[in-house]
Amino acid sequence: MYGQFGGGPKKKDQNPGTSSAAYPTLNTWRTHKEKAEAKGKKFTDRPPVPPRTWKKPALFYAGQWKERTDASIMLKVWTGTCWSWLKVRTLGREVPADCEMGSPSLICHGKQWWLHTPLEKTFKGPAKIAEQVTTNPHTKLCAIDLNLGENIAVCTVQTAEGTILATRFIGGGNEINGFRKRQLGRIARKRSKTGIIAEGEQDNAALWKKICHRDEQMAHLVSARIVQFAQQHEASILVFEHLGNLKPEQGTYSRRGNSKRAFWMKGRIFTYAKYKAYNEGILTSRINPRNTSRECARCHALVARYSEGQPAEGYTPGAPLVYCSACGMRGNADRNASVVIGQRLIARYQKQAQEKPPAPLHAERDEQSSGVIICQDTRREEGPSISPARRADRQGHGTAQGGTLWMEERPSSIPTQLRLFNE
Ligand SMILES: [Zn+2]
Repeated sequence: MYGQFGGGPKKKDQNPGTSSAAYPTLNTWRTHKEKAEAKGKKFTDRPPVPPRTWKKPALFYAGQWKERTDASIMLKVWTGTCWSWLKVRTLGREVPADCEMGSPSLICHGKQWWLHTPLEKTFKGPAKIAEQVTTNPHTKLCAIDLNLGENIAVCTVQTAEGTILATRFIGGGNEINGFRKRQLGRIARKRSKTGIIAEGEQDNAALWKKICHRDEQMAHLVSARIVQFAQQHEASILVFEHLGNLKPEQGTYSRRGNSKRAFWMKGRIFTYAKYKAYNEGILTSRINPRNTSRECARCHALVARYSEGQPAEGYTPGAPLVYCSACGMRGNADRNASVVIGQRLIARYQKQAQEKPPAPLHAERDEQSSGVIICQDTRREEGPSISPARRADRQGHGTAQGGTLWMEERPSSIPTQLRLFNE
């Protein structure tokens, strides 16, 4: 039923315009042929043929769709013999009113067709981070420490002056780790029973899918919560750490696989938080992760990290408590790290402002060699980051320029797509 009009949009794509730029291999073949003929040689190479199947989404330009409502749309499709209008029912949330709608496209997801619509929203980009931090001491920034343990993210809001305003712990790490580890264990057991894994074929597809979906959902949930927290406290900047290198854990297959996925999720949370924040006018930056959890947020001496019931000395990675012998500070290790992360960003720009007022853009690059700064990730012109899958879906509209934003989702909600069914 779902595949009924599968041939329609595909057919349309197989009949593209004859723009020469779209066929580089055909052009190469033509040049080779011309050269060979000019030299009087026999040319036997066959011309390149278009692929038998296309995986491109079918784009519906103006005139190819009409009568769009919240629940249905009329699409002009090729039925195999003629072009006809087909009314299809759509699911999903409403299109926001303050956005300009682009041409929708159909994307095949298994047995379903999804209708993606790019939305364009124009707004004024926020001021650069350097400007915000150095000119206004009341600028609030939200620093995030991402972890592999129970507290996936620990966020602290502080002002540019250094006043700490609020902290939020975003938990759920143990649950997702346990879930992932169980599924990976099941995969390992099933694999050991089968003995051989067929090449070029996904084994245990359903289980892998389960893990992927759960990871994806969690990354969206955590990133949305981070942005919501920043919004609640009117923070205008998000600060993360650079991820560093993956240190794979030793142990069973499920243990290794789990730690790898937990690490990847950190990267996803950053990517998703970045575009969700940008939609709300919040910029995102990253700082050098070196010793963020070993430094005291109050006096910057090295701290001891320990678990409850243990002596407050030494450094146990991942332990929940922190004690600074220099100033007597005690507290939660992750919270301390998130404060240090925020302080590092402020220190970066204040240092720049002192050294070279007013700081030109290339000053940031100069400082890289000093080891204090790794990079500035966010620029005003830059659009939000979009996961590769989404980027592919939107036909090259990946990043927007000049404060124009291609927006498909709001940060305050977990995104759902418009799904399309046949009537
Ligand atoms: Zn201290």
